[in-house]
Amino acid sequence: MIKALSVLRAGAPLEPVRINRREPGPAEITVDVAYAGICHSDLHMARNDWGYSTYPTVLGHEVTGFVSAVGTKVTAHTIGDRVAVGMLLGSCGTCPSCRAGQEQYCTGGGGAPADAGGFSERMVVGQDFALSLPSTLDMAAAAPLMCAGITMFSALREWDAGPGVRVAIVGLGGLGHLGVKLAVAMGAQVSVLSRSQERERDARRFGATGFHTVPDAPAGAFDLIISTVSAVTDLAPMFTLLDVNGTLVMAGAPTTPLSVPVGPLITGRRRLAGTSIGSLREAREMLDFCATHGIAAEAEIINADQMGTAFARLDAADVRYRLVLDAASL
Ligand code: NAP
Ligand code: ZN
Repeated sequence: MIKALSVLRAGAPLEPVRINRREPGPAEITVDVAYAGICHSDLHMARNDWGYSTYPTVLGHEVTGFVSAVGTKVTAHTIGDRVAVGMLLGSCGTCPSCRAGQEQYCTGGGGAPADAGGFSERMVVGQDFALSLPSTLDMAAAAPLMCAGITMFSALREWDAGPGVRVAIVGLGGLGHLGVKLAVAMGAQVSVLSRSQERERDARRFGATGFHTVPDAPAGAFDLIISTVSAVTDLAPMFTLLDVNGTLVMAGAPTTPLSVPVGPLITGRRRLAGTSIGSLREAREMLDFCATHGIAAEAEIINADQMGTAFARLDAADVRYRLVLDAASL
Protein backbone atom coordinates (compact mmCIF):
# COMPACT_ATOMS: atom_id res chain seq x y z
CA MET A 1 0.00 0.00 0.00
CA ILE A 2 1.26 3.48 -0.87
CA LYS A 3 0.00 7.04 -0.52
CA ALA A 4 -1.44 8.81 -3.54
CA LEU A 5 -3.77 11.60 -4.62
CA SER A 6 -6.82 10.35 -6.45
CA VAL A 7 -9.74 11.87 -8.37
CA LEU A 8 -12.78 9.86 -7.29
CA ARG A 9 -15.28 11.21 -9.83
CA ALA A 10 -15.41 13.77 -12.65
CA GLY A 11 -14.76 17.25 -11.34
CA ALA A 12 -13.96 16.08 -7.79
CA PRO A 13 -10.87 17.49 -6.04
CA LEU A 14 -7.72 15.44 -5.54
CA GLU A 15 -8.04 13.36 -2.39
CA PRO A 16 -5.38 11.60 -0.33
CA VAL A 17 -5.85 7.84 -0.62
CA ARG A 18 -3.93 4.62 -0.07
CA ILE A 19 -3.63 2.33 -3.05
CA ASN A 20 -1.96 -0.94 -3.93
CA ARG A 21 1.00 -1.08 -6.27
CA ARG A 22 1.90 -4.51 -7.59
CA GLU A 23 5.42 -5.95 -7.53
CA PRO A 24 7.33 -5.38 -10.78
CA GLY A 25 6.97 -8.06 -13.44
CA PRO A 26 10.09 -9.57 -15.08
CA ALA A 27 10.62 -6.61 -17.47
CA GLU A 28 9.31 -3.92 -15.13
CA ILE A 29 10.81 -1.58 -12.56
CA THR A 30 9.45 0.17 -9.50
CA VAL A 31 10.06 3.92 -9.47
CA ASP A 32 9.91 5.84 -6.20
CA VAL A 33 8.46 9.15 -7.34
CA ALA A 34 10.49 12.23 -6.43
CA TYR A 35 8.60 14.89 -8.42
CA ALA A 36 5.52 14.97 -10.66
CA GLY A 37 4.62 17.93 -12.86
CA ILE A 38 0.98 19.00 -13.16
CA CYS A 39 -0.05 19.19 -16.80
CA HIS A 40 -3.22 20.78 -18.14
CA SER A 41 -4.07 17.32 -19.49
CA ASP A 42 -4.37 16.16 -15.86
CA LEU A 43 -7.02 18.84 -15.40
CA HIS A 44 -8.81 17.78 -18.62
CA MET A 45 -8.76 14.16 -17.36
CA ALA A 46 -9.93 15.10 -13.85
CA ARG A 47 -12.95 16.87 -15.35
CA ASN A 48 -13.58 14.21 -18.01
CA ASP A 49 -13.24 16.97 -20.62
CA TRP A 50 -12.38 14.47 -23.34
CA GLY A 51 -15.08 11.96 -22.33
CA TYR A 52 -12.88 8.90 -21.75
CA SER A 53 -11.73 9.31 -18.14
CA THR A 54 -12.42 6.49 -15.71
CA TYR A 55 -12.51 6.89 -11.93
CA PRO A 56 -11.04 6.65 -9.42
CA THR A 57 -7.86 7.75 -11.15
CA VAL A 58 -4.36 8.64 -10.03
CA LEU A 59 -3.07 11.24 -12.49
CA GLY A 60 0.41 12.65 -13.05
CA HIS A 61 2.52 11.83 -16.12
CA GLU A 62 5.59 14.06 -15.77
CA VAL A 63 7.66 12.07 -13.33
CA THR A 64 11.21 11.88 -12.07
CA GLY A 65 12.30 9.44 -9.42
CA PHE A 66 14.60 6.65 -8.33
CA VAL A 67 14.51 2.99 -9.27
CA SER A 68 13.75 1.02 -6.11
CA ALA A 69 13.13 -2.49 -7.48
CA VAL A 70 13.80 -4.30 -10.76
CA GLY A 71 12.23 -7.37 -12.34
CA THR A 72 14.28 -10.50 -13.01
CA LYS A 73 14.81 -9.68 -16.73
CA VAL A 74 15.58 -5.97 -16.38
CA THR A 75 18.86 -4.91 -17.96
CA ALA A 76 18.28 -1.20 -18.59
CA HIS A 77 18.24 0.02 -14.98
CA THR A 78 19.65 -0.79 -11.57
CA ILE A 79 18.38 0.10 -8.13
CA GLY A 80 19.11 3.73 -7.26
CA ASP A 81 19.17 5.00 -10.87
CA ARG A 82 17.62 8.42 -11.55
CA VAL A 83 14.87 7.99 -14.11
CA ALA A 84 12.18 10.00 -15.89
CA VAL A 85 8.77 8.68 -16.93
CA GLY A 86 6.22 10.38 -19.14
CA MET A 87 2.83 9.76 -20.68
CA LEU A 88 4.05 6.89 -22.85
CA LEU A 89 3.80 3.73 -20.75
CA GLY A 90 3.19 0.98 -23.27
CA SER A 91 3.20 0.16 -26.97
CA CYS A 92 2.50 -3.03 -28.90
CA GLY A 93 5.94 -3.08 -30.54
CA THR A 94 4.67 -4.59 -33.79
CA CYS A 95 2.32 -2.09 -35.52
CA PRO A 96 3.72 0.15 -38.29
CA SER A 97 4.07 3.14 -35.91
CA CYS A 98 5.97 1.09 -33.32
CA ARG A 99 8.20 -0.43 -35.98
CA ALA A 100 8.93 3.10 -37.24
CA GLY A 101 9.96 4.15 -33.70
CA GLN A 102 6.87 6.31 -33.21
CA GLU A 103 5.33 4.49 -30.26
CA GLN A 104 3.20 7.51 -29.38
CA TYR A 105 1.13 6.71 -32.47
CA CYS A 106 0.82 2.98 -31.67
CA THR A 107 -2.26 1.53 -33.35
CA GLY A 108 -1.84 -1.94 -31.88
CA GLY A 109 -3.44 -1.50 -28.49
CA GLY A 110 -0.62 -0.17 -26.35
CA GLY A 111 1.05 -3.24 -24.80
CA ALA A 112 1.17 -4.27 -21.15
CA PRO A 113 -0.47 -1.77 -18.78
CA ALA A 114 1.70 -0.02 -16.22
CA ASP A 115 0.70 0.54 -12.60
CA ALA A 116 1.27 4.26 -12.78
CA GLY A 117 0.10 7.77 -11.96
CA GLY A 118 2.76 10.15 -10.69
CA PHE A 119 0.75 11.82 -7.91
CA SER A 120 1.80 8.90 -5.74
CA GLU A 121 4.78 7.57 -3.85
CA ARG A 122 5.60 4.80 -6.28
CA MET A 123 4.78 3.42 -9.72
CA VAL A 124 5.54 0.23 -11.65
CA VAL A 125 6.45 0.69 -15.33
CA GLY A 126 8.04 -1.31 -18.15
CA GLN A 127 11.82 -0.87 -18.16
CA ASP A 128 11.77 0.64 -21.68
CA PHE A 129 9.40 3.41 -20.64
CA ALA A 130 11.64 4.81 -17.90
CA LEU A 131 14.48 6.90 -19.29
CA SER A 132 17.80 7.59 -17.61
CA LEU A 133 17.85 11.16 -16.37
CA PRO A 134 21.07 13.01 -17.29
CA SER A 135 23.00 13.83 -14.12
CA THR A 136 23.07 17.58 -14.74
CA LEU A 137 19.28 17.94 -14.85
CA ASP A 138 17.54 18.97 -11.63
CA MET A 139 14.90 16.39 -10.72
CA ALA A 140 12.09 18.87 -10.02
CA ALA A 141 12.68 21.09 -13.04
CA ALA A 142 13.20 18.09 -15.33
CA ALA A 143 9.90 16.37 -14.49
CA PRO A 144 7.84 18.63 -16.85
CA LEU A 145 10.21 17.78 -19.69
CA MET A 146 8.52 14.37 -19.84
CA CYS A 147 5.24 15.74 -21.21
CA ALA A 148 5.39 19.48 -21.83
CA GLY A 149 9.00 19.26 -23.03
CA ILE A 150 8.75 16.20 -25.22
CA THR A 151 5.51 17.40 -26.84
CA MET A 152 7.13 20.62 -27.96
CA PHE A 153 10.47 18.98 -28.87
CA SER A 154 8.77 16.40 -31.10
CA ALA A 155 6.67 19.00 -32.93
CA LEU A 156 9.60 21.38 -33.39
CA ARG A 157 11.75 18.57 -34.79
CA GLU A 158 8.98 17.20 -37.02
CA TRP A 159 8.46 20.63 -38.61
CA ASP A 160 12.19 21.39 -38.88
CA ALA A 161 12.47 24.28 -36.44
CA GLY A 162 15.98 25.65 -36.84
CA PRO A 163 17.94 28.55 -38.30
CA GLY A 164 15.87 30.60 -40.72
CA VAL A 165 12.56 29.15 -39.55
CA ARG A 166 10.11 31.64 -38.02
CA VAL A 167 8.27 29.90 -35.18
CA ALA A 168 5.39 31.27 -33.12
CA ILE A 169 4.29 29.58 -29.91
CA VAL A 170 0.71 30.38 -28.92
CA GLY A 171 0.10 30.41 -25.14
CA LEU A 172 2.92 30.88 -22.64
CA GLY A 173 2.07 28.15 -20.14
CA GLY A 174 3.71 24.84 -19.30
CA LEU A 175 4.11 23.64 -22.88
CA GLY A 176 4.61 27.14 -24.24
CA HIS A 177 7.52 28.21 -22.07
CA LEU A 178 9.44 25.00 -22.78
CA GLY A 179 8.57 25.32 -26.47
CA VAL A 180 10.18 28.76 -26.54
CA LYS A 181 13.36 27.56 -24.80
CA LEU A 182 13.67 24.51 -27.05
CA ALA A 183 12.98 26.35 -30.31
CA VAL A 184 15.48 29.08 -29.38
CA ALA A 185 18.12 26.42 -28.62
CA MET A 186 17.39 24.80 -32.01
CA GLY A 187 18.30 28.13 -33.61
CA ALA A 188 14.83 29.16 -34.79
CA GLN A 189 13.53 32.72 -34.74
CA VAL A 190 10.91 32.52 -32.00
CA SER A 191 7.89 34.66 -31.15
CA VAL A 192 5.20 34.23 -28.54
CA LEU A 193 1.53 34.92 -29.16
CA SER A 194 -0.26 35.51 -25.87
CA ARG A 195 -3.57 36.94 -24.69
CA SER A 196 -2.04 40.04 -23.11
CA GLN A 197 1.29 41.81 -22.71
CA GLU A 198 1.59 40.40 -19.19
CA ARG A 199 4.11 37.67 -20.03
CA GLU A 200 6.26 39.58 -22.50
CA ARG A 201 9.19 40.03 -20.15
CA ASP A 202 9.22 36.30 -19.32
CA ALA A 203 8.92 35.33 -22.99
CA ARG A 204 11.96 37.45 -23.82
CA ARG A 205 13.83 36.00 -20.83
CA PHE A 206 13.18 32.53 -22.32
CA GLY A 207 14.74 33.75 -25.57
CA ALA A 208 11.80 34.86 -27.72
CA THR A 209 12.64 37.82 -29.95
CA GLY A 210 9.03 38.61 -30.82
CA PHE A 211 5.95 38.95 -28.61
CA HIS A 212 2.43 39.83 -29.76
CA THR A 213 -1.16 39.55 -28.77
CA VAL A 214 -2.93 37.63 -31.50
CA PRO A 215 -4.80 40.62 -33.00
CA ASP A 216 -1.57 42.63 -33.16
CA ALA A 217 0.63 39.93 -34.67
CA PRO A 218 2.03 40.59 -38.16
CA ALA A 219 0.27 38.83 -41.08
CA GLY A 220 2.21 36.17 -42.96
CA ALA A 221 5.11 36.36 -40.51
CA PHE A 222 5.50 32.72 -39.48
CA ASP A 223 6.47 29.41 -41.07
CA LEU A 224 5.30 27.35 -38.10
CA ILE A 225 2.76 28.16 -35.40
CA ILE A 226 2.34 25.73 -32.52
CA SER A 227 -0.77 26.30 -30.45
CA THR A 228 -0.60 25.18 -26.82
CA VAL A 229 -3.92 26.79 -25.95
CA SER A 230 -6.03 24.56 -23.72
CA ALA A 231 -9.34 26.33 -24.42
CA VAL A 232 -11.57 26.78 -27.44
CA THR A 233 -10.33 29.75 -29.48
CA ASP A 234 -10.85 31.13 -32.96
CA LEU A 235 -8.39 29.56 -35.40
CA ALA A 236 -9.12 32.01 -38.22
CA PRO A 237 -6.58 34.66 -37.17
CA MET A 238 -3.85 31.99 -36.91
CA PHE A 239 -4.00 31.21 -40.62
CA THR A 240 -3.52 34.85 -41.57
CA LEU A 241 -0.33 34.89 -39.50
CA LEU A 242 1.16 31.97 -41.44
CA ASP A 243 3.24 32.59 -44.56
CA VAL A 244 2.54 30.59 -47.73
CA ASN A 245 3.21 26.88 -47.07
CA GLY A 246 3.09 27.51 -43.32
CA THR A 247 1.75 25.00 -40.81
CA LEU A 248 -0.42 25.45 -37.75
CA VAL A 249 0.19 22.60 -35.32
CA MET A 250 -2.31 21.89 -32.55
CA ALA A 251 -0.60 20.70 -29.36
CA GLY A 252 -3.23 22.16 -27.06
CA ALA A 253 -6.30 19.95 -26.91
CA PRO A 254 -9.51 21.93 -26.40
CA THR A 255 -12.54 19.81 -25.72
CA THR A 256 -14.98 20.87 -28.41
CA PRO A 257 -14.49 21.02 -32.18
CA LEU A 258 -13.03 24.19 -33.65
CA SER A 259 -14.15 25.60 -36.95
CA VAL A 260 -11.56 25.89 -39.70
CA PRO A 261 -11.68 28.57 -42.41
CA VAL A 262 -10.75 26.79 -45.63
CA GLY A 263 -9.97 29.91 -47.70
CA PRO A 264 -6.55 30.67 -46.19
CA LEU A 265 -5.63 26.98 -46.34
CA ILE A 266 -6.26 26.99 -50.08
CA THR A 267 -4.87 30.38 -51.04
CA GLY A 268 -1.61 29.89 -49.15
CA ARG A 269 -1.27 26.09 -49.35
CA ARG A 270 -1.26 26.24 -45.55
CA ARG A 271 -1.61 23.17 -43.37
CA LEU A 272 -3.32 22.28 -40.13
CA ALA A 273 -1.81 19.43 -38.13
CA GLY A 274 -1.87 17.80 -34.72
CA THR A 275 0.89 16.32 -32.62
CA SER A 276 1.04 13.92 -29.68
CA ILE A 277 3.87 13.79 -27.11
CA GLY A 278 6.97 12.11 -28.64
CA SER A 279 8.60 8.73 -29.15
CA LEU A 280 11.01 7.06 -26.73
CA ARG A 281 13.91 7.86 -29.05
CA GLU A 282 12.84 11.51 -29.24
CA ALA A 283 12.43 11.63 -25.45
CA ARG A 284 15.99 10.36 -24.95
CA GLU A 285 17.24 12.93 -27.47
CA MET A 286 15.20 15.63 -25.78
CA LEU A 287 16.69 14.90 -22.33
CA ASP A 288 20.22 14.97 -23.78
CA PHE A 289 19.40 18.18 -25.68
CA CYS A 290 18.09 19.79 -22.49
CA ALA A 291 21.16 18.68 -20.54
CA THR A 292 23.45 20.11 -23.24
CA HIS A 293 21.59 23.42 -23.48
CA GLY A 294 20.72 23.80 -19.80
CA ILE A 295 16.98 23.69 -20.46
CA ALA A 296 14.40 22.78 -17.82
CA ALA A 297 11.01 24.00 -16.66
CA GLU A 298 10.41 27.02 -14.46
CA ALA A 299 9.07 24.86 -11.66
CA GLU A 300 7.06 25.98 -8.65
CA ILE A 301 7.44 23.08 -6.25
CA ILE A 302 4.32 22.45 -4.19
CA ASN A 303 3.35 20.06 -1.41
CA ALA A 304 0.47 17.59 -1.42
CA ASP A 305 -1.65 19.92 0.72
CA GLN A 306 -1.38 22.61 -1.99
CA MET A 307 -2.64 20.27 -4.70
CA GLY A 308 -6.23 21.22 -3.85
CA THR A 309 -5.75 24.61 -5.51
CA ALA A 310 -3.43 23.41 -8.28
CA PHE A 311 -6.16 22.66 -10.81
CA ALA A 312 -7.97 25.94 -10.12
CA ARG A 313 -4.71 27.81 -10.67
CA LEU A 314 -4.10 25.97 -13.96
CA ASP A 315 -7.65 26.69 -15.05
CA ALA A 316 -7.09 30.39 -14.37
CA ALA A 317 -3.65 30.36 -16.09
CA ASP A 318 -2.22 31.49 -12.75
CA VAL A 319 0.96 29.39 -13.01
CA ARG A 320 4.45 30.50 -13.99
CA TYR A 321 5.21 28.11 -15.53
CA ARG A 322 4.76 24.60 -14.12
CA LEU A 323 3.53 23.35 -10.78
CA VAL A 324 5.51 20.33 -9.63
CA LEU A 325 4.45 18.09 -6.75
CA ASP A 326 7.17 17.12 -4.27
CA ALA A 327 6.15 13.49 -3.71
CA ALA A 328 7.97 13.42 -0.36
CA SER A 329 5.12 15.60 0.97
CA LEU A 330 2.51 12.89 0.33
P1 NAP B 1 -1.17 25.63 -19.31
O1 NAP B 1 0.11 25.62 -18.56
O2 NAP B 1 -2.44 25.87 -18.60
O3 NAP B 1 -1.00 26.68 -20.52
C1 NAP B 1 -2.02 26.93 -21.45
C2 NAP B 1 -1.88 28.34 -21.99
O4 NAP B 1 -2.94 28.56 -22.92
C3 NAP B 1 -2.05 29.43 -20.95
O5 NAP B 1 -0.86 29.73 -20.29
C4 NAP B 1 -2.55 30.61 -21.77
O6 NAP B 1 -1.45 31.28 -22.37
C5 NAP B 1 -3.33 29.92 -22.88
N1 NAP B 1 -4.77 29.96 -22.58
C6 NAP B 1 -5.42 29.41 -21.54
N2 NAP B 1 -6.74 29.66 -21.61
C7 NAP B 1 -6.92 30.37 -22.72
C8 NAP B 1 -8.07 30.93 -23.35
N3 NAP B 1 -9.30 30.82 -22.81
N4 NAP B 1 -7.89 31.60 -24.51
C9 NAP B 1 -6.66 31.73 -25.04
N5 NAP B 1 -5.55 31.23 -24.49
C10 NAP B 1 -5.68 30.56 -23.35
O7 NAP B 1 -1.39 24.23 -20.07
P2 NAP B 1 -0.31 23.17 -20.61
O8 NAP B 1 -0.03 22.18 -19.55
O9 NAP B 1 0.78 23.89 -21.29
O10 NAP B 1 -1.22 22.38 -21.69
C11 NAP B 1 -1.78 23.10 -22.78
C12 NAP B 1 -2.67 22.21 -23.62
O11 NAP B 1 -1.87 21.22 -24.25
C13 NAP B 1 -3.74 21.44 -22.85
O12 NAP B 1 -4.91 21.40 -23.63
C14 NAP B 1 -3.15 20.06 -22.71
O13 NAP B 1 -4.11 19.05 -22.55
C15 NAP B 1 -2.45 19.94 -24.04
N6 NAP B 1 -1.38 18.94 -24.10
C16 NAP B 1 -1.24 18.27 -25.27
C17 NAP B 1 -0.21 17.36 -25.43
C18 NAP B 1 -0.04 16.65 -26.73
O14 NAP B 1 0.63 15.62 -26.77
N7 NAP B 1 -0.60 17.17 -27.81
C19 NAP B 1 0.68 17.14 -24.37
C20 NAP B 1 0.51 17.87 -23.21
C21 NAP B 1 -0.52 18.78 -23.07
P3 NAP B 1 -1.37 32.91 -22.39
O15 NAP B 1 -1.67 33.35 -20.98
O16 NAP B 1 0.03 33.18 -22.83
O17 NAP B 1 -2.36 33.39 -23.37
ZN1 ZN C 1 0.79 16.28 -20.16
